[in-house]
Amino acid sequence: MTCIFCQIASGKIATDLLYSDEHVVAFQDIRPQAPKHVLVVPRAHVASLWELEDRELAGALLLAAAEVGRSQGLGAGYRVITNIRKHGGQEVPHLHLHVVGGHPLGPMLQQD
Ligand code: 5GP
Ligand code: ZN
Repeated sequence: MTCIFCQIASGKIATDLLYSDEHVVAFQDIRPQAPKHVLVVPRAHVASLWELEDRELAGALLLAAAEVGRSQGLGAGYRVITNIRKHGGQEVPHLHLHVVGGHPLGPMLQQD
């Protein structure tokens, strides 16, 4: 198993989990882009949103992102992002939602 997020989700790489249920885990991004930057990741290997077909998992991911927003104190607002494949800038080929916030985020498609 070489997928880094599969290894984190299975516990093979020890990581502090901020959220965990039967479908999903969440943990801090290693290179945070904002004061709060959490990754919400399915336990099952799904390469990206392009490949996602499981409706229950889709719901679990979105509800986990909502719960992480609440548990991280992001009531002032935050953003949930998923990068998809090459043009989307996806680096880790295991589906993940970025939960980003903790300060005002600016325009969504800022290029710099
Ligand atoms: P992507 O560009 O694929 O949407 O985002 C991948 C994210 O995973 C990046 O924000 C990167 O910092 C994060 N990341 C990559 N490797 C690791 C890791 O081993 N541990 C954690 N916690 N985050 C990682
Ligand atoms: Zn994986």
